[in-house]
Amino acid sequence: MIDIAPIIRDVPDFPKEGIVFKDITPLLTNPAAMKDIADRLAELFADKQIDLVAGIEARGWIFAPLLAERLGAGFVPIRKPGKLPYKKISRSYGLEYGTNTIEVHTDAVQAGQRVLMVDDLLATGGTMVAACELIEELGGQIAGVAFVIELSFLPGRAKLDKYDVTTLVQFDGE
Ligand code: AMP
Repeated sequence: MIDIAPIIRDVPDFPKEGIVFKDITPLLTNPAAMKDIADRLAELFADKQIDLVAGIEARGWIFAPLLAERLGAGFVPIRKPGKLPYKKISRSYGLEYGTNTIEVHTDAVQAGQRVLMVDDLLATGGTMVAACELIEELGGQIAGVAFVIELSFLPGRAKLDKYDVTTLVQFDGE
């Protein structure tokens, strides 16, 4: 197992003052680390009968298709507003300042399908809660929620407590 924590770069005051941004680009150029991440997550969900892996734009899209391929599942893109061309549903959620919206195509998930949700990082959990609600609105079953990174000093995990949440590396302070 590779210790991925030291490969993640802290960028202070990005995108705004006071935020320590967890930059995953050094991970992306490290093939052994990427393989380890995909192998570990795939192993955790191998026996969970995953039909689809849903990834949240944009960094969730890096990891979700790797997992989908390993699990023999399809990939569902959850997108920022105005990008999806076909019939879609939307969910808005609050941020510290203002709101965000994410969308998914109405035919991306069939009722009863088991969906693994993926994003790069769990912070407050607002993005992932909205994503899970979109999938549930389409009749999908959330079979698990996976992140590479968890900021465990924020209440994201508590917000997702009705789901089975997996994270590979936890940071408990900035
Ligand atoms: P949240 O909805 O608060 O859990 O935020 C999660 C989303 O925001 C993820 O898609 C992350 O990529 C991004 N994000 C939030 N905080 C950070 C951070 N400190 N470093 C990098 N990405 C972050």
